[in-house]
Amino acid sequence: MSHWDFPDCCSKCLAAGPAQVWKISASEYKPGAGNSTVCITYSTHLPVCDRCYRGLSGMSWLSWIVACMIAGLAIGAIVIYAPKVNHHLDTFPPIINVGALVLIGGLIVWGSGWFLNTLLVDSSVGSFDPTEKTIHFTSREYQAKFDAMNRHQVEDRSWMEV
Ligand SMILES: [Zn+2]
Repeated sequence: MSHWDFPDCCSKCLAAGPAQVWKISASEYKPGAGNSTVCITYSTHLPVCDRCYRGLSGMSWLSWIVACMIAGLAIGAIVIYAPKVNHHLDTFPPIINVGALVLIGGLIVWGSGWFLNTLLVDSSVGSFDPTEKTIHFTSREYQAKFDAMNRHQVEDRSWMEV
């Protein structure tokens, strides 16, 4: 895992002296033993100022609320339409029906919440490429500062790979 030097300014708005960090993660899939696939999740912390941190936190909460609403709508649709499609549902004990709904709802909240957070919140700061071991910042100015500070590491790495 590479160690990066971060310029001393907010990676989103370039304000000086960032007091907070925003965590971004990325997963890399590698072939494991047999036919299995190993998923390795890397995360890194990007410096952000208080104002951007509050904005990102708010957006993140909003993403989870939207995810809960999506799950609520899906569960509502299942409760209304499933008995019409499958007439045997009411022969199952209620605990199984309720358990299945909770499980489906949880998966929808987790999946759509993760998706919205990655797409709307994290990507507004930057994204992390585990294969290339690089960070792509949304702010071009920050990217230029970051590249300038970490140029020596790129050179070190290419030397090691040769
Ligand atoms: Zn900022």
